[in-house]
Amino acid sequence: MGELVRKYRVVVLGAGGVGKSALTVRFAQGRFVSDYNPTIEEEYACDVQAEGETCLLEIMDTAGAEQFTALNEVYIKRARGFVLVFSLTQESTLQDVDNIRQQIQMIKAQEGQSIPIVVVGTKMDLAREREVTRDTIKDLAARWGLPFYETSAKNNWHVTDVFHDLLGQMRRRYPDE
Ligand code: GDP
Ligand code: MG
Repeated sequence: MGELVRKYRVVVLGAGGVGKSALTVRFAQGRFVSDYNPTIEEEYACDVQAEGETCLLEIMDTAGAEQFTALNEVYIKRARGFVLVFSLTQESTLQDVDNIRQQIQMIKAQEGQSIPIVVVGTKMDLAREREVTRDTIKDLAARWGLPFYETSAKNNWHVTDVFHDLLGQMRRRYPDE
């Protein structure tokens, strides 16, 4: 008999150039892409183990999320979990995360309970170009009540942690799917 696999749709959002595609491809395909076409939107299907069970993550890597387009709203409505991406080397990209976070909360308001979200700072390997301090991250994590991860898609630092955290949140939030 075929086993029923739990399936969760995830969307990756954030400003252009922060490393959404590099993060997603690192997780989905285990390699670093440095020249990913910024206009391409692509969905990746990944089997992920959680507590001895295999789940299917369908991860949508979006393009051009700076403007809050109608398309963004469609993605947010369809998704169960959210990866909100900023660059540790560009502090202004945190503002985009805040805007998207608020947009998600507005669109999902009727769902009541907490929404599975992880916030991801990228390009941790570029230490000398870093603009976002640990203190800023701690402060925002407390204010927003969301988990933050500092990552490098290039060096494969903490990338899997992001998706396992999100999967855990989705499994708790939507146990019957
Ligand atoms: P997107 O527009 O958010 O999808 O950003 P991309 O994934 O296309 O990445 C934008 C640029 O940042 C590319 O030149 C990547 O090589 C670079 N980049 C992405 N992640 C990292 C990282 O972890 N480390 C470094 N050094 N560069 C990165
Ligand atoms: Mg991209």
